[in-house]
Amino acid sequence: MTQTLDLGPRVELVSMDPHFHDITIALYSPGSDGQPAYLIHTYSSVPGADERIACLRQTMQTLGGMEAIGEGLLRFPCGHAHPLAARRVFLDSCKLSPEPAAEPRPLHVFDKKSDGTITVASLGNGLYEARPADNAQGTERRVATIARGLMRLGEMEEVDGQPNQTRFSCGQEHDDLIGLLLVRAPNVRAAMREAEDMASRGVLAAPSAQE
Ligand SMILES: [Zn+2]
Repeated sequence: MTQTLDLGPRVELVSMDPHFHDITIALYSPGSDGQPAYLIHTYSSVPGADERIACLRQTMQTLGGMEAIGEGLLRFPCGHAHPLAARRVFLDSCKLSPEPAAEPRPLHVFDKKSDGTITVASLGNGLYEARPADNAQGTERRVATIARGLMRLGEMEEVDGQPNQTRFSCGQEHDDLIGLLLVRAPNVRAAMREAEDMASRGVLAAPSAQE
């Protein structure tokens, strides 16, 4: 196959797909008429690889609230790139078992450190607030940590004087995305480290994918 693909810059790479023959899968940002868009691609010719990519495309739509815009491209409905969030959606989609089909994550998470549940409320215009789900002692202190976790994972903005709130710079709602990020928000440091590990491993394992 000598076909040259214009995939654009590589955003993220999973060097060994745990759910499909250890194939290497990458997320690219080819851009589409100047609009930020993403493309999942593999150079693998293993039979079924195309179906695996199609499955991942569907999972990213479900978990990240992304939408398909033809030619296999995905984007966020707001039209903004949100690159860090897109990476996270991609990594989590690759990790998830393809069966049963993915479902959107709820807007609450059990926080082990405070032994309580923390919810996230959408206040509109891309603004979100972390709140204790019950009156459990300890969760009150943790909500600001959860909000900061979302901020880092989703490249969101601080809200002056509101440590429990965070906002998407696009000013639009991303409930599905928040649900996905929320799973990792209580332990952001581990999530960031994992992304770095995967990226560095990928570079060593699949130099051909960097062309
Ligand atoms: Zn947005």
